[in-house]
Amino acid sequence: MPGPNTIKNIAVIGSGFAGLSAASYLAKAGCNVEVFEKNEDIGGRARQMRTDNGYLFDMGPSWYWMPDVFEKFFNDFGYKPADFYDLRLLDPEYVIVFGKDDVMEVPASVPALFGLFERIEKGSADALKLFLREAAFKYRVGMNKLVYKPGLSIREFADAELVKGLFRLQVFTSLSAHVRKYFKDPRLVALMEFPALFLGAMAEDTPAMYSLMNHAGLKLGTWYPMGGFGNVVEAMKEVAVRQGVKFYAEEPVTGFKIKQGKITNVETQYRAREFDGVIGAADYHHIDQKLLEPQYRNYSPKYWAGRVLAPSALIYYLGVTKKVKKLKHHTLFFDEDLKVHAQQIYKQPQWPTKPLFYVCCTSKTDANVAPEGHENIFILMPLAVNMADGEEMREKYFEIIMKRLEDYCGESISDHLDYKKSYCVSDFKNDYNSFGGNAYGLANTLSQTAILKPSIRNKQVKNLFYAGHLTVPGPGVPPAIISGNIAATQLLKYLQNQ
Ligand SMILES: Cc1cc2nc3c(=O)[nH]c(=O)nc-3n(C[C@H](O)[C@H](O)[C@H](O)COP(=O)(O)OP(=O)(O)OC[C@H]3O[C@@H](n4cnc5c(N)ncnc54)[C@H](O)[C@@H]3O)c2cc1C
Repeated sequence: MPGPNTIKNIAVIGSGFAGLSAASYLAKAGCNVEVFEKNEDIGGRARQMRTDNGYLFDMGPSWYWMPDVFEKFFNDFGYKPADFYDLRLLDPEYVIVFGKDDVMEVPASVPALFGLFERIEKGSADALKLFLREAAFKYRVGMNKLVYKPGLSIREFADAELVKGLFRLQVFTSLSAHVRKYFKDPRLVALMEFPALFLGAMAEDTPAMYSLMNHAGLKLGTWYPMGGFGNVVEAMKEVAVRQGVKFYAEEPVTGFKIKQGKITNVETQYRAREFDGVIGAADYHHIDQKLLEPQYRNYSPKYWAGRVLAPSALIYYLGVTKKVKKLKHHTLFFDEDLKVHAQQIYKQPQWPTKPLFYVCCTSKTDANVAPEGHENIFILMPLAVNMADGEEMREKYFEIIMKRLEDYCGESISDHLDYKKSYCVSDFKNDYNSFGGNAYGLANTLSQTAILKPSIRNKQVKNLFYAGHLTVPGPGVPPAIISGNIAATQLLKYLQNQ
């Protein structure tokens, strides 16, 4: 760690989970850390929106999976999540709608889950036991040996347990093929393939190693932080502030002064300041292609054009002036063909002909996110990146989605709205400098895993490291937190060797 006589000044670009995590670890190690955020609010894609008429919306993440990653972050600073926010286990974890009368409630209890599988497909409870045993192995090895690695060299993975377990990790089998070896019923297949959506890719293109996500979802539980994800952001910001981190909101970084392969100054909209090191925790592509001069970029436009991004999204934030009886906290509408929609995201990008979508109703769990007797509804439809997203399209899809949602719920919703806002590709671009308007980074396909991801370190600029969902370990809140930890560790290593 840099000692008291060598206090280093570090700039962190972006205040999402990756930036909050990196800033906290660097400050704990004795650095002076300043976080520059483009937007008015801290938290990046996980910021919240409070309306004048009493709704509190999480703008981005809503699934709190992998609670162990959050716990590790807080424990590393002498705290626990419960010191800052109250977590509720959701039961059912979520509901999948395959058709109006074909609905699956996924229970939080594992014995109840076995019962559900057996009722749907004879023999599948035993298959699930085996599947989950393998998934638990992958989760343990993944968390202990893979995800906290910087992905700078293949040598990082020369570990006896990893090499021995390589076959069992199933890096070269697809998640889709793996799931189909265990289950035949299309509903069980859909349930087991669904976590691939968190990884931003189709199950066919996702390595079976990521069935570790089934362990995360089905064994570790689906949680809700009371007050919403915004409370997790607040908690991490509080940890950072207690380490001495300073935040500058509405102050976008605009460029750097670089001398002899090192950033000497960070330039923001308002000033230029000297720094010893930089963590780029805004979208990697933005820093690489927009903030750095061409000679300092890690990658070419052609490289970026060849990346498979996680989807963008069309989102609606709705305030409803009554209770909607049938809705639970999380509902997935899988009543159309997932494959067709996925093709229209990844293979032939276009607006979907028959979209799948997801509905989150946080007011089912949390009385403080909507006025009494009202519902807070968030609807998300995955969409290919870079789509034109004018008002007409947003309205067209609103009608398609509302019709299916109202049919399922058996009551009108659109006649009872007192708040409605849409959010789509161009908003992601404008608000977060998001590459292509992606919602959650780079897809975790085989050719974009570990050392094959955009590198966490800049090869030309020695004191610049990247964090966030376009580099290791990947998309989602827990990986973003881990990414901040890895980038901070790498920058500290560099500083110690100076
Ligand atoms: C709609 C949606 C739903 C999601 N659902 C889930 C979920 O349920 N569970 C889950 O785990 N994950 C979910 N995710 C993914 C998860 O939210 C992200 O992967 C994660 O929050 C990314 O964190 P980050 O720090 O890498 O990036 P961001 O949160 O994007 O943070 C980057 C920050 O950099 C700022 N910035 C950009 N340019 C500059 C600049 N020039 N100067 C200064 N600052 C700049 C941006 O404004 C932003 O605040 C979801 C994402 C979205 C969008």
